[in-house]
Amino acid sequence: MQFNYSNIILQQFKATWLPDTILAAMLRLDLLHPEVSGNKWFKLKYNLIAAAAQGKSHILTFGGAYSNHIAATAAACQLAGLTCTGIIRGEKPPVLSHTLQEAMAKGMQLQFISREAYRHKNTTDWASLFPDAFIVPEGGNNAAGAKGCEEILTLADTSSFTHIACACGTGTTLAGLINSALPAQELRGYPVLKGAEYLEQEVSALITVPRPPLWQLVHEHHGGGYAKVPAGLKEFMEDFFIQTGIPLDIVYTGKLVRGVCEDIKAGKYPSGSRILLIHTGGLQGNPLLS
Ligand SMILES: *Cc1c(COP(=O)(O)O)cnc(C)c1O
Repeated sequence: MQFNYSNIILQQFKATWLPDTILAAMLRLDLLHPEVSGNKWFKLKYNLIAAAAQGKSHILTFGGAYSNHIAATAAACQLAGLTCTGIIRGEKPPVLSHTLQEAMAKGMQLQFISREAYRHKNTTDWASLFPDAFIVPEGGNNAAGAKGCEEILTLADTSSFTHIACACGTGTTLAGLINSALPAQELRGYPVLKGAEYLEQEVSALITVPRPPLWQLVHEHHGGGYAKVPAGLKEFMEDFFIQTGIPLDIVYTGKLVRGVCEDIKAGKYPSGSRILLIHTGGLQGNPLLS
């Protein structure tokens, strides 16, 4: 399976909150494909290659009712001619979310488990329950996932940027960016989960280069926690769309751009910075707004 990476553009933008002394551009992974958009494809790529190498044509993975990873896995498996099962957190609701309806329509089999059982998913023996399946962890969070994300910075000429910023869930994408950035580039990950200090360890564990460039997690911009919508975020996203034509998602990229905006105002990006923001996609999740 091959996607047309030429849909992905590097888009320089201006916004009222961006001073003239700082340049900013968005790498639009959201334009890759309507459903397999953003970073989730890159995290899946080497997992699907590993599955093929093991002769497995069934993918088993995990996620919540609005998961971009579930959406991307269902779409990618359909395109690749693979079957798949999604283990979904929580009891089956009377009405499925649009994400789950879409995933089912693409052939994903859904299996709902209690939140309690979901918490223990990493110690559950899925291999004996699904002997023919290749197991991809929630969010594509493994070394193969990070390896795929090393390709992101090759999609355009990103060599002149001083800073690279992305939203973080599991931190897998950030790890891939760290592994592939130039030595002088500085990386900043913006976690969307509250209390995600454990991510420092998780990201470090996926770093494969002996001397990684400077990187840090900026923990102040989660806006109350995962999928929480703080006051002003929707307005910020709308205003950003009007100014730039770039749509953002409420869970990840909205918080990233707002976080970078606030950090710029707070002087945390020096004058002369050239900031590359990674648009990791996630737009399929936006109907949860309405
Ligand atoms: C999953 C997701 C992320 C988080 O990626 P990680 O590699 O888990 O840190 C960021 N942005 C969007 C839009 C996502 O769907």
